[in-house]
Amino acid sequence: MIGRRDILKGAAALAAMSGSRAFAQGTSQDKPKPRTRVVFLGTKGGPRVTMGRSNPASVLLVNNVPYVIDCGMGVSHQLAAAGVPLTSIRDIFITHMHSDHNLEYGNLIYNAWTSGLQKPIHSFGPKGLIRYSFTFWELNRFDIETRIEDEGRPDLRKLLIAKEIDGDGPVTDDENVKVTAFRTPHPPIVENFAYKFETPDGTIVFSSDTAFNPKLAEFAKGADVLVHEVMYEPAVDRLVAKNVNGATLKKHLMDSHTTTEDVGKIAAMAGVKVLVLDHFVPGDDPLVTDDNWLDGVKKNFKGKTVLAQDLMELTLPV
Ligand SMILES: [Zn+2]
Ligand SMILES: [Zn+2]
Repeated sequence: MIGRRDILKGAAALAAMSGSRAFAQGTSQDKPKPRTRVVFLGTKGGPRVTMGRSNPASVLLVNNVPYVIDCGMGVSHQLAAAGVPLTSIRDIFITHMHSDHNLEYGNLIYNAWTSGLQKPIHSFGPKGLIRYSFTFWELNRFDIETRIEDEGRPDLRKLLIAKEIDGDGPVTDDENVKVTAFRTPHPPIVENFAYKFETPDGTIVFSSDTAFNPKLAEFAKGADVLVHEVMYEPAVDRLVAKNVNGATLKKHLMDSHTTTEDVGKIAAMAGVKVLVLDHFVPGDDPLVTDDNWLDGVKKNFKGKTVLAQDLMELTLPV
């Protein structure tokens, strides 16, 4: 289990890595923020909600404009903890429709609305995102219509512009970022996208959940930062033992995620400056040490490798 002390330890390690530009949230409220930074909001892979790491979500901030990547349970709370006003959200990117990546998607948009959202939010994601959005409106119709009438709020349903991605290529661009999607296999899911963000301070790629995929290394070629999911194979047996469907779950995990050794291979092939390990599977096994995560990676990748922690901040340029 990861406690407050571990979070600070992770932040301190990162600060040591990149000097004073990296810091633990809450210690530098009065200092001007760096132009481009990523805050890892939730770093535990999988749908179980536990007391430790939060479920998957990250936010890239450029000129204080947030670009939210995935909406696992806890994303609203973690954004608040990171000091990102929910009303400032303009863009949300969903990698795939596994619940650990989208379960709080509707609720995040809803929470932005009750915080005073006035401007549209654009969301991007795989096929199914539009229906998922409409279904959320239906689920919450009574409350939304009551608050429009009773509290004078704008119609939330008109403030969301959801767009489905149907293949590799450009997704969106604005004054801060250019975003490109890349389909990567996550069996049995095919509609699953890695995202590349080109910012004024460098390029960062988020792998999504993915099986070992050398083509992803081509997509991430020359990026400054690669944020890649990771699975520690020796601990998978302990993880699946907690589930009645253990054998099937193990097969799913082995087929659809990337081991530490293989993450190292991808980072080396891509030639990235910094590799960030994220979406830890398992993300809550106290017997797995930092070295367990790093040793496999180091066999194949000699560059800087960072273990993401909840609320850890990484500043670009690296
Ligand atoms: Zn996941
Ligand atoms: Zn997944």
